[in-house]
Amino acid sequence: MINKLLDNCFLTELNTIVTDVEEDNHLYWYAFKETVFFMKQGGMEGDIGVINGYEVLDVKIKDNKQWHLMAEEMQVGDAAFMSINLHERFRKCQIHTAQHLISALLCNVYKVDTLSHHVSDDENDIEFNLESFTDKMKNELMVLCNGLIRDDLEVTVLYPSRSEAALHAPAEKLNHEELRVVRIGALDYNLCGCMHVPSLRYLQMIYISGYEKTPRGYKIKYICGDQLLDSVSRRYKVLNEASQTLALSHLYLNTGINKLINEQKALSRDIVLWKQKYFVLLAEKLNKSDCTCVTYEFDDIDVKSLVQLAQYLTTEYQKPCVLLAKLYDKCHLVVGAPKDSHIDCSTCFKGIAQQFELNGGGSRTLSQGGGAYTKSLSDYVKAIQKL
Ligand SMILES: [Zn+2]
Repeated sequence: MINKLLDNCFLTELNTIVTDVEEDNHLYWYAFKETVFFMKQGGMEGDIGVINGYEVLDVKIKDNKQWHLMAEEMQVGDAAFMSINLHERFRKCQIHTAQHLISALLCNVYKVDTLSHHVSDDENDIEFNLESFTDKMKNELMVLCNGLIRDDLEVTVLYPSRSEAALHAPAEKLNHEELRVVRIGALDYNLCGCMHVPSLRYLQMIYISGYEKTPRGYKIKYICGDQLLDSVSRRYKVLNEASQTLALSHLYLNTGINKLINEQKALSRDIVLWKQKYFVLLAEKLNKSDCTCVTYEFDDIDVKSLVQLAQYLTTEYQKPCVLLAKLYDKCHLVVGAPKDSHIDCSTCFKGIAQQFELNGGGSRTLSQGGGAYTKSLSDYVKAIQKL
């Protein structure tokens, strides 16, 4: 059904009266003599707004009537003053009209079809059955779009007869009871029931933000008008914060990030070297005890370092070892033995694991696992003399 009040996107207020009421789960659906609310269709979301100052919760078309859902109770014949959120509607109209423009340009230039259109808060996209798309085509499209916005082509809504429409549109597109056409200058003639801005200058600017290959062609991503300004503001805020943190201007942020990454890599390399030196000293200290098996409990070591230390002790000092790390209320236990020894670490670990409810396993030369840290496990490990 066609509502001609929607031909002017700036008509956002209306005095009317209630004609129908339907109760729905403690809420009420209302139909009015006329409405300025756009009902969701053609991929465009419905309007948001208020009636008599109360919020409209949803809108729908049913039985050829346009319904508005509200919590407040009204009677048939009551006066109603409608007011639409203009900012939200205008943004929607900009994005939708920009889609008409981009589609018209690509379809005219490359003889392709529009396959789908997707609108989101941050960025929109249109999918075309393009065989290829390049940065050069992207830039050309952006220049063309913004050139036409400067030219301020008129966007007009027409109600042609079937024979008039047949001069501009293929017959299969004319299968509607009433025909509503949206025309952009002499560039585009499109059957559409949605709302649009009155001329291209209201789009302010189109930014083609990227493109992406899809199974059917290419998705062209775009941002325009108020949405573009919001998007730039949001990104500037993030860039300003990052600039402040790194004490660099926007354009040098990447240089700063790369410098940080390189410093971090160098620090990681240093840690490995210092850890090696620490293991050498620690292994030397632990090996001084006269027992045939090295046992030790740590409360400041990570699992990876614990395993590396066990490997170092068994290869450099040819000593079996049982190393325990306390990790808050958990623990990790490593049992290691030199390659040529008769000791089977797997069996040794299994014995301890069963006794102290640990999980894990491993090979003859290195077995490990973890569970809850207990005082009895700690005492047991300290008392081990040989494996
Ligand atoms: Zn449209």
